[in-house]
Amino acid sequence: MNWLDEFKSPEISQKILAQIKEFDFPYTFMEVCGTHTVSILRSGIRSLLPKNIKHISGPGCPVCVTSQGDCDLAILAASIPNICITTFGDMLKVPGSKSNLAQARSEGKHVEVVYGPLDALKYAADHPETEVIFLGIGFETTAPTVAATIKKAKEQNIHNFSVLSFHKIVPPALDALLSTNPKIDGFIYPGHVSTVIGTKPYKDVLRKFNKGGVIAGFEPVDILSAILELLKMQKDNQPKVVNNYHRAVKDEGNINAMNFINEVFVTEDAEWRGMGTIPNSGLGLRGEYKKFCAKTKFGLKSKKSPDPPGCRCGEVLQGLIEPYECPLFGKVCTPIKPVGPCMVSTEGSCAAHYKYGKL
Ligand code: SF4
Repeated sequence: MNWLDEFKSPEISQKILAQIKEFDFPYTFMEVCGTHTVSILRSGIRSLLPKNIKHISGPGCPVCVTSQGDCDLAILAASIPNICITTFGDMLKVPGSKSNLAQARSEGKHVEVVYGPLDALKYAADHPETEVIFLGIGFETTAPTVAATIKKAKEQNIHNFSVLSFHKIVPPALDALLSTNPKIDGFIYPGHVSTVIGTKPYKDVLRKFNKGGVIAGFEPVDILSAILELLKMQKDNQPKVVNNYHRAVKDEGNINAMNFINEVFVTEDAEWRGMGTIPNSGLGLRGEYKKFCAKTKFGLKSKKSPDPPGCRCGEVLQGLIEPYECPLFGKVCTPIKPVGPCMVSTEGSCAAHYKYGKL
């Protein structure tokens, strides 16, 4: 048996599930990672859990949490002459208040899909006559590669490259969630983000709210054993931060990756879709790297903009409603024609529920 197979084993999953069913108190856990959302829905874990255990999805998809105002800003930047917007493909369909980047491209704006920031930098190096802006979307997982790319642009004197940073960090969002949604008893912490930040930031949240969580991998056994851990800590009335993903996450995180983030970025307030402004939850460029900040370079400023009429992404992202409780779900809002961002990315809550059914 491949050592990873045990994390997919139906027999081991059944044994853990039997232990989970021994706990009879009501418990609500939230996962804050889009990959967990998909794993939980695709594997059918939700339908196997006893009725007293409720699962809700949080703001785990970076595309989903990008505010409408920031989408508008990216579209506005695309309309500046001689600018090329480079971005991950997911961002093309995310709606701004009037259109999206795909529409902007069809109207002749220069928008290129890239696989990562280094591709954007290469494009800038190959096209010195064009100002290339990379859209910095993502959490602590993607921020280090963007930081490394900005450092490289500085070292190589590539001046026609800049980043429109919409990066966000997870711990302040946990703080905001616990402040607004008292139903959350504990978290499944994001596996990928935790490889970078380690366990300490979660301990700060634990100290403030006395709500703990478990860092988990993405296979069914990972997720079920994380739920079992959560139940045990609730029963013992001892919330804590547990690292259940030792094969990928070190308690101290990835120090090199954090050094890249801390050298290039500084935390700043950020607007989250449907959640408003969360203090110190975004990453802007610091000091000597500010010249690579597209907002500074082109005088771009985000404006607040309400979500599309009828779209309840804000409540979905905070776990206040299930995606299918949105009246637009599956009717006027589908992955082919998304109204809100949670239906755009495959890891968005609405898209995952649409694909894997009302489980
Ligand atoms: Fe927004 Fe569509 Fe989800 Fe409703 S179903 S919350 S409109 S993304």
